[in-house]
Amino acid sequence: MKALRWHGAHDLRWDEVPTPSAPRPHEAVVEVTWCGVCGTDLHEFLEGPHMIRTGPHPLTGARPPLALGHELSGTVAALGAPVAGIAVGDRVTADPCWRCGVCYWCTRGEYHLCPKGGSVGLASPGAFAEYVTVPLAGLTPVPDNVSDEMAAVAEPLAVGLHAVSRAGIRPGDNVLVVGGGPIGVAVILAARIAGAAGLYVSEPLAGRRDMLRALGVTEAFDPHEVDVRREVFLRTGRIGPDAVIDATGVPALAAQAVSTVRRGGRVVLAGVGHGAVAFDMGQLVFYERAVLGTLGYTFDIPRVIDLMSAGRLDASALVTGRFPLAGGAGVFADLAADRARHLKVLLTPKDM
Ligand SMILES: [Zn+2]
Ligand SMILES: [Zn+2]
Repeated sequence: MKALRWHGAHDLRWDEVPTPSAPRPHEAVVEVTWCGVCGTDLHEFLEGPHMIRTGPHPLTGARPPLALGHELSGTVAALGAPVAGIAVGDRVTADPCWRCGVCYWCTRGEYHLCPKGGSVGLASPGAFAEYVTVPLAGLTPVPDNVSDEMAAVAEPLAVGLHAVSRAGIRPGDNVLVVGGGPIGVAVILAARIAGAAGLYVSEPLAGRRDMLRALGVTEAFDPHEVDVRREVFLRTGRIGPDAVIDATGVPALAAQAVSTVRRGGRVVLAGVGHGAVAFDMGQLVFYERAVLGTLGYTFDIPRVIDLMSAGRLDASALVTGRFPLAGGAGVFADLAADRARHLKVLLTPKDM
């Protein structure tokens, strides 16, 4: 089969590789229909390896070169063990999180924190290929009224669902989302489902602010033009937002989020960030604010699919580009040159 494999930074190749077959009991093979390009993939393309290990992965044994891609939809090609309700040929998406299944975290359902864990497309060959091996436990059936494209974005939307549950958002809450990129949009869609009454977003790109308004956010602010903290404060009866969710990973913005959230509110850091954040301890202690991290999801992908199927979650605005996987290296180069042009780009190994 053909696969778009990562050989190193700025080095993706359209390689001929063996088609995965004979999955082990904890695996399944999926024939890929669509796979989304994640910020993580772009990161590996631009300056990897970050999450790709250069040696064999401790759990999967995989090592580069390997295909990226973990936001997939497709049909079941082979099952490593029988699964109730899923047969070869069925349309599926997959939770791409490999897990050991026996550690402290796995046995408590926190498999996304498994110390040996990793994702398809980073810890094992990914879905930028005609076929991909995924965790059997992650297979999620896709009902007829959910399209293959929407099934492929269930994974990034699950990140939003998990972030919102970490934030403890309740019906009627006011929420500020910092950053209106793909993760920000996933958070916004999930916060609305959780019942947010006021949904504010801070996003410097005008085109993205327009798109966010079309999605129905209460207000989209340009942080270069207005004092977002003050604007949200005034619009919430001089209280401030119940939750601030950062989808940027920028340390200075995480510090700002702490001073923006209301007394007793929660800050959730959803952006993939590194580096020290400086804030006054008193801003937490004297106002009883909480700051939490959020990573990926646990059991959220089936909930996203159910929400889509029930007509409660329309994520069509998220997908802004569709391209053949064979030209994927060029797509990555274009995305790297201008990240603002797209939210979510999907690639397909099928004829378009
Ligand atoms: Zn992703
Ligand atoms: Zn584990």
